Order: sequence, then structure tokens, then C-alpha cells
Amino acid sequence: MKKIAVLGSTGSIGTQALDVVRNLPEEFSVEVLAANSNVELFARQVEEFRPKLAVLADEAAYKKFSEKKFSGVEVAGGRKAFVDAAAFDDVEIVLTAMSGFAGLEPTIKAINAGKNIALANKETLVVAGELVTKLAEARGVKILPVDSEHGAFFQCLQGEDFKSIEKLLLTASGGPFRGKKIDDLRGVTVKEVLAHPTWNMGKKITVDSATLVNKGLEVIEAKFLYDVDYDQIQVVVHPQSIVHSMVEFCDGSIIAQLAAPDMRLPIQYALTYPRRMPSPVKKINFWELKELTFEKPDEIFLGLKFAYEAGRIGGTLPCTFNAANEVAVNAFLRGRIKFLQIYDVIEKVLSRRKVLNNPTLEDLIAEDSEARRLAEKFIEEDLI
Ligand code: NDP
Ligand code: MG
Repeated sequence: MKKIAVLGSTGSIGTQALDVVRNLPEEFSVEVLAANSNVELFARQVEEFRPKLAVLADEAAYKKFSEKKFSGVEVAGGRKAFVDAAAFDDVEIVLTAMSGFAGLEPTIKAINAGKNIALANKETLVVAGELVTKLAEARGVKILPVDSEHGAFFQCLQGEDFKSIEKLLLTASGGPFRGKKIDDLRGVTVKEVLAHPTWNMGKKITVDSATLVNKGLEVIEAKFLYDVDYDQIQVVVHPQSIVHSMVEFCDGSIIAQLAAPDMRLPIQYALTYPRRMPSPVKKINFWELKELTFEKPDEIFLGLKFAYEAGRIGGTLPCTFNAANEVAVNAFLRGRIKFLQIYDVIEKVLSRRKVLNNPTLEDLIAEDSEARRLAEKFIEEDLI
């Protein structure tokens, strides 16, 4: 039995990961469950999976949770306990399914403790790609991608030499506003943004999918996972979300990974790797599947442009980009700014921050908070 920790168990990825465990009860033992604030769902998960350790990062939520009693389960609360949970005892693999920059420290903690990482929290690689990949290499730790596109690359690259990669073809659904004109985007509501055509995900990543910032973050994530140049990563819009990504090799061959759009598949492969196991994911019927189409991303969605720019410059700039985006998305979800103003916030913050090369974890934490402060100030003073 593989001993696993699920950090961010109450979210979209976390709950689907627990579904994977339910479907393969002989394979996994859930040693740690950790989440932030959803006390009711978390309590049901702890009751069902009986982990050795259960942690809620939010202090007030933890206080409520600690009134419940679960025999044989150690409970803890607060940010430090959440980070420490990543290094718990004999856990073999840590699924990082928490959202945003908050995932960086626990991921580093887990790597330092020699745990393999099933990485859903892409922000970690965006913010600290170099630091994290170097550390993982030094500790002999595997980073197994959960993001569907990177999971696809991972499958296409089994048995291949990364040096023979010509191009990574990163597919994108195009989000809910594919084909729209800039004027159509000015007044879009939160509800419209959250209605993603092919994937059902947490709110932050759903907004990121609409701005194409998600695809931008994935470009940076791919760069660090597969050690390619930015010129070798090409985004291809594929509205059906059946081809999860493709690798073109130096001889001109292209290998693609196809499946129904269901995150349980890449989550499961990351957790069972190197084995494949049966899954309930709907099988594709090629007689019914009429067409698979591909197109160029529309340049009105600036998320890709920002990501390539920030990624190419490197240093602390991807961290700046991520922080500005997190603040802007949050402000949009709360109705403080309009959809297109997410781009204004990112652009403004990116243009104001100096770049520091080869940042340490402390530098990145400092940059994250400074970029957040600037983004907040801009939203407060200039945008409303
Ligand atoms: P959700 O918003 O659905 O869930 C986030 C999880 O993280 C919840 O368990 C939440 O706890 C917890 N969390 C939030 N903030 C903190 C914090 N400060 N400290 C500790 N835990 C926290 O997100 P998703 O599941 O959609 O996404 C998770 C990660 O996976 C993201 O990095 C995303 O980019 C990535 N990803 C997601 C995909 C998807 O299909 N959803 C696809 C590919 C990647 P609580 O709910 O208890 O407050
Ligand atoms: Mg993805």
C-alpha cells in the first residue's frame, strides 16, 4: 500500500483524489489529510479515511473542527501545522492540491523530507521553478505532474530522452470566451467566467482559464518540468479537451495523450506511477467522436503574453506575475474589478517590480508579499 498525504483535500483536485483512493482501496493508505477552512467536508473526509494526521490551516476553522472527536487521529491547526504535515512520518507521496502561492512552502518541506510529489499546485513551479526542480534533483525526489497537460507530456515521454524533444504542444480548451471580441469581454460577469465548457474546477483556476493566465502558468510549469526553452513550447487551442497535450520529437514524430476530460485520470497516474490501474473514467468511442479541432490562441487574451515575458526574463518575475494575478482574480471574484482589469493589474505590477535573479525562498516570499501589496494598492487607488 502506498502511503499518501493529500494537502488541499476539500478542493476540486483533493476530492477527486479521494475518489481515486475510493476506487482503488487496496492501493493507498491516506496518512494525512489537510485543508484550509471547509470544516464540514473535512470532518466527513476524516471520518471516512481515518488518516493518522488531520490539519486545518485556518485557525478559526480548526477551533470548530477540534470540537469533534476522531479516535486514533491526531489533529492540528494553523499554517505551521499545515506546512509540517507535508513532511509527516513515512508518507511516500504528497499530493499538493492546495491553491496558490500557499503551496510553495509545504512542497519544499515535503521535498526536503524526501517525499515524492504529485504536483497539482502549479503555482509552486511558476514561482520557484529553478529552486524546486534543483532541490528535487538533489534529494532524489520525483515530481509527478497532476495537471492534465503535464500529465500528458509525462505519459508521452515515458522511455524517451528529453533531449529529443523538439516541441511541447500544450493544448488549451480556449475557456468560456473563445471566439469573443474584446467588447464582448468588458462586462462579463463572475457567473459567466465560472461556466467553463469542459472542466469543473476550483474558482481561481477557472478564472485563470478564461484569461488564459492558466495556460501561461502551464507554459512556465512545462518549462521547468521538461527543461525546454520557451521557444519549444507552443500553445494550441483544442476546444474538445480530448487531446491533453502532445510532444513533437526531433524526427518529426508526434505522440499525443488522449482521454475524456476527467482529472481523476492524471491524478491516478501520478499516484500509481509507474503502474497503470483501471479507472472509472469514461472511455472514448471514436465512432461517436466526430472531430478534434485545433487553432491558434487569440491574442486578446493576454495571459499567455504575460507568462512568456515573465518566464523569459525569469528570476523573481514569474513570482511577481503569479502574485499580481492571485490578487486580481480574488478582486474580480469579489466584484471589486472588472474581468479585463485583471490584465491591467498584472501589467502594472509587472512593470513596477525590479527583477532579482537566482532568488532564495526568502526572496520569493518577500517578492510575493510586495507584489501583492502593489496590486492591492493599484486596485484600491486607481481602479475603483
Ligand atoms: P480549490 O479552490 O477547489 O481547492 C483548494 C484547496 O486548497 C482546498 O482544499 C482549500 O481548503 C485549500 N486551501 C486554499 N487556501 C489554502 C491555504 N492558504 N492553506 C492551505 N490550504 C488552502 O482548487 P483546485 O482543486 O481547483 O486547485 C488546486 C490546485 O490544483 C491549484 O494550484 C490549481 O492550479 C491546480 N489544478 C487544478 C485543476 C482542477 O481541475 N481543479 C487542474 C490542474 C491543476 P478549503 O476548501 O478547506 O478552504
Ligand atoms: Mg491544466
